[in-house]
Amino acid sequence: MVTSSPTLHPDIDEVLLTQEAIAARVAQLGREIAAQYAGKRPLVVGTLKGAVVFMADLVRAMEPTPEGLQLEFVRASSYGAGTVSSGKVALSGTLAPADVEGRHVLLVEDIVDSGRTAVALLEHFKAMGAASVALVSLLSKPARRTVPCEPDFLCFEVEDKFVVGYGLDFDEQYRSLPYVGVLRPACYSPAE
Ligand code: 5GP
Ligand code: MG
Repeated sequence: MVTSSPTLHPDIDEVLLTQEAIAARVAQLGREIAAQYAGKRPLVVGTLKGAVVFMADLVRAMEPTPEGLQLEFVRASSYGAGTVSSGKVALSGTLAPADVEGRHVLLVEDIVDSGRTAVALLEHFKAMGAASVALVSLLSKPARRTVPCEPDFLCFEVEDKFVVGYGLDFDEQYRSLPYVGVLRPACYSPAE
């Protein structure tokens, strides 16, 4: 079989996680999550837009599919066009308390950085009457935590570098890259 590696995007300094490494880890974690949620009708809630690519792969890797699994989305924004969090988390979406009440909510995040977004969302679902809340994240940067937040399921820990690809953006760019890479600093801090 011939495999082709995608051409490296010119704005990417270094590939941290290849497409193959991500696929292998997502397959493994999907089975683990499926086993834990068997019979629980999980409500899998993805954070737009960063978690969309990961979530699409993760739910298909949940084998055997937990009966009654449903997908929902919320929007959480704290960044704007910068690479440093504003510290405030704005939530929006169409999820009503009746959708969440009594459900086992599995929040899907692209990356846990300060921890503020995930903690705010988990608190929000608890307040809406979820039977349980848990967090699965593609990436975690533990060095950057400002509030305690430990994902229940995690694909990879990464060092404190700004990463893009596999759903993660900078200013809405790079989400469709099939790998996770480090963005060239020149792309977000243009020379004066
Ligand atoms: P937190 O609330 O944990 O500080 O931030 C979580 C959000 O910040 C993530 O969902 C993501 O949108 C953004 N973020 C944090 N670190 C990075 C990063 O290295 N790259 C990108 N593209 N987004 C990041
Ligand atoms: Mg996000």
